Amino acid sequence: MTAQIIDGKKIASEIRADLAKKVEQLPGELMPVLAVVLVGDNEASRIYVRNKQKAAAEVGIGCEVLEMNEGIGENALLATIEELNENPHVSGIIVQLPLPEHINPLKILSAIRPEKDVDGFNPYNAGLLACKEPETVVSATPKGILKLLQSTGIDLCGKHAVIIGRSNIVGRPTAMVLLNHDCTVSVTHSKTVDLPSIVRQADIVVAACGCPNLVKKDWLKEGAVVIDVGINRVEGKLCGDVDFEDAKEKASFITPVPGGVGPMTVAMLLENTYEAALKQQNSHGHHCHCGHCHHS
Ligand code: NAD
Repeated sequence: MTAQIIDGKKIASEIRADLAKKVEQLPGELMPVLAVVLVGDNEASRIYVRNKQKAAAEVGIGCEVLEMNEGIGENALLATIEELNENPHVSGIIVQLPLPEHINPLKILSAIRPEKDVDGFNPYNAGLLACKEPETVVSATPKGILKLLQSTGIDLCGKHAVIIGRSNIVGRPTAMVLLNHDCTVSVTHSKTVDLPSIVRQADIVVAACGCPNLVKKDWLKEGAVVIDVGINRVEGKLCGDVDFEDAKEKASFITPVPGGVGPMTVAMLLENTYEAALKQQNSHGHHCHCGHCHHS
């Protein structure tokens, strides 16, 4: 079998186009604005932030990047978050990770007001997701993974999904999203014993461990759906956590790197920002233009 490629780049561009139309229909004063807090001088972070800025501009969402020195103290960073929380023009706030060692990320992420937490990393939103609360902000990467899986047309109900990685930003929330969609979920990690034998049981594999080309063809059940979240740079070239050329011979569907999960993450962040803007305007008594809400 040769796998069908799940074209995340194309699906993400369709989502952005759809979003651009919706944003265009909003009256000017409702324009969604995303605030991105970038601390220090991490090159990869700069690239990610630039991609988010570009994509936001394309759909008509405002994007303000606040650059902070590497040496900024926790309290000063918390004060910046508080200002953004209070700023009525800001619909969504994200803090680009990783933060410098001296800053506790959980403390910072917890300070983002849940309605503006468009990355869904505030433990309050993560907790709501774990409680299967439908109104939660779902973080962008797991949301994008779900859309990619749904794009294949497979029924998720009862499928065994094996997730490689248990981070707060990918592994854990993806496990929750797939559990909420009736998958049977196994979460594996760096201490898992005999990872290949567990991955071989999977109908769906989500690789998010940051290990270049780790998952091979002989780790896969025939026809498995493979979602590769990894972004690794090997000798200047990007690759995922799955050995793509090898795995595509046995998978039924597979995402490429680049062009799979990455662009979906950005599109979902923008969608979350748009939705956050609508909800905040509603809660301030403005009329919603989403077409779903009813006003008395
Ligand atoms: P992380 O370093 O926080 O977590 C990695 C996880 O993988 C840990 O839970 C660890 O236990 C597990 N792990 C490490 N080595 C392992 C091994 N040999 N076998 C099994 N499990 C192992 O990383 P993260 O932030 O979750 O990111 C994972 C990867 O996904 C990275 O390559 C990152 O760049 C990429 N990423 C991509 C996107 C995207 O939008 N495409 C978004 C976030 C992260």
